Amino acid sequence: MSEIVCRVCAGPFDGAVQAWCPTCLATRWFETRNLIRAKHDPAVAPNTLDTYRSIITPRLKADLRETLEDAAARGSWFWDRDYGMWVHVTERPLGRAPGVGIPAGREDPDHALDCLFIAEADSTEEAHVFAADSQRHAAQIRAGVFEPLGACGQAGCENLRRPGATHCASHAREADLGPEGATEPAVRGR
Ligand SMILES: [Zn+2]
Ligand SMILES: [Zn+2]
Repeated sequence: MSEIVCRVCAGPFDGAVQAWCPTCLATRWFETRNLIRAKHDPAVAPNTLDTYRSIITPRLKADLRETLEDAAARGSWFWDRDYGMWVHVTERPLGRAPGVGIPAGREDPDHALDCLFIAEADSTEEAHVFAADSQRHAAQIRAGVFEPLGACGQAGCENLRRPGATHCASHAREADLGPEGATEPAVRGR
């Protein structure tokens, strides 16, 4: 446990477990336009695509704020080398399967998906949710496609570095801080 006090909301969080203030992160996601895109929206189903797709559950959509709060508190950040973006991954937010998968050419889902993914999770413009499979994700971590956050660059600090930054929220340099000194990275990727 390494308590960090958020520069924005003054809420405390555990810097060894959470790279970003969970309260501010959940609010930021919740306020993102197009967080739920049509392709993954249960309101648009059923329709048939010629490619596989996942949709989130109507329950997740109804409980979106609570789901995002749970994800921000428990989930983990990864750098996705294939897509060159930050993703945030949470297994079974609120204890539930967040989505289902629909095979190509079919209208109906045929399997449940147990992870909530937030793609481009550090972006106030592009962040969007979808559901995926935890076993596949674990395999992608082993394969080096998904790179977990490392430790803070400050000697002796065991906190997680923030996405796109070299240091934790506590040791962030001024140059790493966004407008208003928010706990958000000014630079994307690495
Ligand atoms: Zn905060
Ligand atoms: Zn640190």
